[in-house]
Amino acid sequence: MTSPNKDFIYHIGTVGTPWGEAEKQQWLSEQQIKRSYKDEVVTALQQSLPDTAELLTYGTLDYSAFDLPTYELFAVRSKNWQEGKPVVLVTGGVHGYETSGVQGALKFIKEHFNDYSDKVNLLVLPCISPWGYETINRWNPKAVDPNRSFGAESQSDEATQAMAFVRQHSGEILVHIDLHETTDSDNSEFRPAKAARDGTVNHNWNIPDGFYLVGDSNKPEAEFQRAIIEAVQKVTHIAEADEQGCLIGEKLVQFGVVNYPKRALGLCGGMTEAKFVTTTEVYPDSPKASPEQCNAAQVAVICAGVDYALA
Ligand SMILES: [Zn+2]
Repeated sequence: MTSPNKDFIYHIGTVGTPWGEAEKQQWLSEQQIKRSYKDEVVTALQQSLPDTAELLTYGTLDYSAFDLPTYELFAVRSKNWQEGKPVVLVTGGVHGYETSGVQGALKFIKEHFNDYSDKVNLLVLPCISPWGYETINRWNPKAVDPNRSFGAESQSDEATQAMAFVRQHSGEILVHIDLHETTDSDNSEFRPAKAARDGTVNHNWNIPDGFYLVGDSNKPEAEFQRAIIEAVQKVTHIAEADEQGCLIGEKLVQFGVVNYPKRALGLCGGMTEAKFVTTTEVYPDSPKASPEQCNAAQVAVICAGVDYALA
């Protein structure tokens, strides 16, 4: 374990003391809009919607109290939702900064949605955290991580609205794939910021070079994960374990896979009763992976995961 180093001390707050409202306000004042959710997500969806899909809004994120924009939340769903068919849920952009999670979901919708529409009911929430997408952020404006907020007493409107919308749908959710990335900025920005916010000390770990999956400790489904890793290997490289046999501080359970107890942690991947669950972790900062490869890796996971579950 690396000892805490000056570089890892965040510039807001006092080491060892959790942030109050003033520190959260300072943090928020430093965030800037860097790209457009409307152009890169909403318009892209509207312009490339497959004929078996319908685009709908499932809520609004109102951040006017923070002098920030209000965001409409969009989902893409099978137009012909049929009782008795299994449901496949895909979620992207729970962490808005993880670009290929959003763009990979859009690519899947554009290129593969129609392929699966006669076999399953599809439900895709491509960008759960639009402000995070625009500001390239892990948290929402309240300095809350939506991906620790999928549970009771959630402090994230992003999470509560996604959960409420998914629950409205009939049928058994067979597969849930949640699209993420692990980035160099996790160590340079987001983990130090979290430690500062919580009044704890940050111990950085190595960011793995390559793709990996996070399964659910309560339903690991090793063969499902293996089938996905094999599909992704055709697109990009898989992360190797570090000297301790770990990825991001967690013991590897099989090649390219670590497991977390998703529901207990309030992770998006724990919000359903789906039998087959996985979270992708694409590494976009690798010199060996282009943005196109990262998006393609996300798509490969969805297709391989659904193919395995239906086989
Ligand atoms: Zn993430």
